[in-house]
Amino acid sequence: SDVGSQKKRVVTEEEWLQKWEMGNIGFHKEQGHPLLQKYLDVLLNGRSGLRIFFPLCGKAVEMKWLADMGHSVVGVEVSEQAVKEFFSEHSLPYCEEAVPEVSGAKMFQSTSGNISLYCCSIYDLSSSIIGKFDGVWDRGALVAVNPCDRQRYASLMINLVDKNSSYLLVTVSYDPNKHKGPPFYVPESEVKSLFG
Ligand code: SAH
Repeated sequence: SDVGSQKKRVVTEEEWLQKWEMGNIGFHKEQGHPLLQKYLDVLLNGRSGLRIFFPLCGKAVEMKWLADMGHSVVGVEVSEQAVKEFFSEHSLPYCEEAVPEVSGAKMFQSTSGNISLYCCSIYDLSSSIIGKFDGVWDRGALVAVNPCDRQRYASLMINLVDKNSSYLLVTVSYDPNKHKGPPFYVPESEVKSLFG
């Protein structure tokens, strides 16, 4: 499995914003992801009232699922359109505020307070801004990160999780010479070297 063909590929933030504008969002799953249902027990591990992080969240409906179960959800997404569509498609009232630590960033929070979506690049955040998490749902996130940024992404994610956290990661397997990505092919050996 030669991943060399994808190593240099870069998708800019502008291109992601364009995908949202054009409705070019084939990655979005209206019905949510069956693997979250399947491995929910692993994520929760018998715990309630968790803080769960959704990196590169888009308008993932799983954020609503987990909030409805009583957890507190934090997401980050560069597209403000995606964030607003999330709240409007679930008929959730929200308020909007600036993030003092990050110039230009905004935080959109459900009025009930249990869903907070940061609109900025994930690389602008750190645990001093958003705290640490008990659980992570990483679907369309590590595989959407540019290959050259994977190490930085993984280090940040490690910084964002608490000691006893659970991290669910969804990757895709295919011949990287046949598709340019995203989603990028991240072999299991690389997942191991990134996260230990
Ligand atoms: N996890 C979501 C979306 C996957 S697509 C889902 O499962 O449906 C990847 C998303 O990451 C896109 O919505 C894109 O706009 C966003 N994105 C890309 N680069 C980003 C970055 N550096 N910081 C935050 N969001 C980013």
